[in-house]
Amino acid sequence: MNDNFAVIGGSGAYELLKNEGFGVDLECRKIITPFGESASIHRFKSEAKASHYSFLFISRHGETGYEISAPFVNYRANIWALKECGVERIISWSGPGIINKKYSVGDFVIPHDIIDETRGREYTFFGGTGIGFIRQSHPFCSEIRDAVSAALEATRESYHNEGVYVCTQGPRLETAAEIRKFRILGGDMVGMTLAPEVFLSRELEMCYASVCYLTNYAEGVEDRDYTEGELFEGMQNNHERDRVDKSILKFPEIIKRTFKRLAQVNKGCICKNAMGRYKRRGDIGEDWHTWIRS
Ligand SMILES: [Zn+2]
Repeated sequence: MNDNFAVIGGSGAYELLKNEGFGVDLECRKIITPFGESASIHRFKSEAKASHYSFLFISRHGETGYEISAPFVNYRANIWALKECGVERIISWSGPGIINKKYSVGDFVIPHDIIDETRGREYTFFGGTGIGFIRQSHPFCSEIRDAVSAALEATRESYHNEGVYVCTQGPRLETAAEIRKFRILGGDMVGMTLAPEVFLSRELEMCYASVCYLTNYAEGVEDRDYTEGELFEGMQNNHERDRVDKSILKFPEIIKRTFKRLAQVNKGCICKNAMGRYKRRGDIGEDWHTWIRS
């Protein structure tokens, strides 16, 4: 496998790709990494002759249901494995909840910044070394963000060009008091998956950005009765569920357009030189495998 692009999807994304005529699933394998086994990596290829592309796909939570929740995903194994496959750009698909009421359920957001509220996750490849002091002026790749923005514009989706993503530990949802705290801190949406993925990708000099579809209002943002048998026990009404379902169906189209756009731009972003300082100083060599301590 040697592919430039990868998609990291949440629950249901794999089925969508398979069912939407997105391409051919050529192969699937797990990769043994210094951090354990990665999730299954698929290679998709477009069937259309006019637009050639292939990409790798990895599912965070399992491919058929919700087999592993966010705190227990092996983020280091997944990111290491994608790097090993030659991936340079990663698009992450995720469905956070709304903190900022300027957003509506079903809207898309391209986060530009992140507050990491996770606890106890394995957040670096550089444990026990002196490297990894990486500036986070733009934690998400600006070039991918621009491409996603153009894709959403072209598909006429309701979207927001920036937003601050708060990443919580989970698997429990947040309390109303926690959501109030995140709002004061400047958080716009809350989920459990983008950290440490975004930081690990930068450590290995890969571009990473996310396209988020908003699934529900976070606790306390809207008054919602506790209702058994509904998503998150009543945090999403029927109208909102319809909107989210429609947004999710746009996933293949958004990804396709984003790839097309990215194929036309040269990597002018900062991501690929994240470790430049250490290379120039001679602390590390060009082979990224040697940077890592497991
Ligand atoms: Zn980049």
